[in-house]
Amino acid sequence: MDMTAAVYLRKSRAEEGDPDALHRHRETLLAFAQEHQMAVAEIFEEIVSGESLYLRPQMLRLLEGVQEGRFEAVLCMDIDRLGRGDMASQGIILDSFRSAACKIVTPRRVYDLSNEMDETYSEFEAFMARQEYKMIVRRMRRGVMAAAREGAHVTEVPFGYVRAWEGKRPTLALHPEEASWVQTAFSLYTGQGQGCQKIADLFNAAQVPAKKSAQWSRTSIWKMLHNPVYTGTWLYNRSKWQKRKKPEDKNKSIPRPPEEWICMENAFPAIVSKEQFQLTQELFQSRSHSPSHAGRRKNPLAGLVYCGLCGAKMQRQHQESKGIAPCLRCPTRGCSPSVPLEQVEQAVLLALTHHLAGLQTAGAPPEPKEGVLIGAAESLEKELVRLESQKARLHDFLEREIYTPEVFAQRRSILEAREKEIKEQLGQLCQREEKKEAPSGASVLEGYAALDAEQKNQLLKTLIRRIDLIRPSPVSSRSFSISITLRGF
Ligand SMILES: [Zn+2]
Repeated sequence: MDMTAAVYLRKSRAEEGDPDALHRHRETLLAFAQEHQMAVAEIFEEIVSGESLYLRPQMLRLLEGVQEGRFEAVLCMDIDRLGRGDMASQGIILDSFRSAACKIVTPRRVYDLSNEMDETYSEFEAFMARQEYKMIVRRMRRGVMAAAREGAHVTEVPFGYVRAWEGKRPTLALHPEEASWVQTAFSLYTGQGQGCQKIADLFNAAQVPAKKSAQWSRTSIWKMLHNPVYTGTWLYNRSKWQKRKKPEDKNKSIPRPPEEWICMENAFPAIVSKEQFQLTQELFQSRSHSPSHAGRRKNPLAGLVYCGLCGAKMQRQHQESKGIAPCLRCPTRGCSPSVPLEQVEQAVLLALTHHLAGLQTAGAPPEPKEGVLIGAAESLEKELVRLESQKARLHDFLEREIYTPEVFAQRRSILEAREKEIKEQLGQLCQREEKKEAPSGASVLEGYAALDAEQKNQLLKTLIRRIDLIRPSPVSSRSFSISITLRGF
């Protein structure tokens, strides 16, 4: 009596480029079935060749059939076509065949997994197939790494270049037209302050041919402006791919530690200078790319202020409904209390004015008057900070019922009056300084108050690289001081 069988067809790794392989196997297996009195009930042909079981839909259908007992045998070219994959996949496949007492038949031999000896054998052989595959992958990777270490360009050719060869070693040569577009993108970003989306729109309008897709996107421009290859640097092995385990997952890129990177300067012809590339990266750091940002900017300090405790970029927060003035808030949960935006802005302006005054008089001995002014401003500033923490303590006293509400209100109004007084004095000091400095360098800050938040932000970013918000420890109140890093022009 004929044995009911299914035929499972799948290319081996070596046959991947061979379009006729599956057709040939089908003929061989059907002839074999006829010779051995087997009735072929169904043919499963795997088109895709994924490693994971979930990426092999035909195998899943076949296993269903095996589990339902529809086949007494499954016919395939050799056993590793069934078993290739990870250990979990192997286990599922072997279990299905064993529990259904379904034989695996190859032209070389028949495997009966319900037979103890055979099971060991097939497990062993499947395991070997897997090991062999892993070894091939490892060997290939070793070869690629060795070539990459010698400066071979083993990845895709980036926009701006064409593939060139130095003997057997792949390298890059300039694609003059594309290279000039790369330069354009960099200078639009650094010189004219255009964002990635605007540059992409411009490229599309100019019908610059994109490499991988029909259109330029914000992301492809972003990637271009971050790619060190354009300074001629060969950077490789920065991350590895983790394969997805389930069809609904995505492959993940996992960064490797810097000591594993391959980095070689001047490996290829450069399209932009190292200085311009560096400036681009710094601008990316300083410009805020918050996706939630829509419409007009409201924070003059956007993208500039970092939390001195955790290093995160501070964000503007404004709960208009609660009637609280806008604050700068550390996005790290529970890190530090927020501080009033206006206070930080004032401190920044004050420090900046001092700094610019310092730049102007650098080399010449400082005028005593100016020194006094700066000293006065500094002590006023310190007092402001102190008042702020005193105010915070008032609340604490009220909560702990050390103060009655009446005493609390009285103390608070005294503190607030003093605060107002100091702010006025500070304002006068600033004005006096600005007047004095008006004709020269410090005039960049002239008219600052008349600007809108967006313009203020742009002005500050041309002068300041970053602002660190330093908090006294323990961080109990809103008191702070700032440390400004200026741009080095
Ligand atoms: Zn923080």
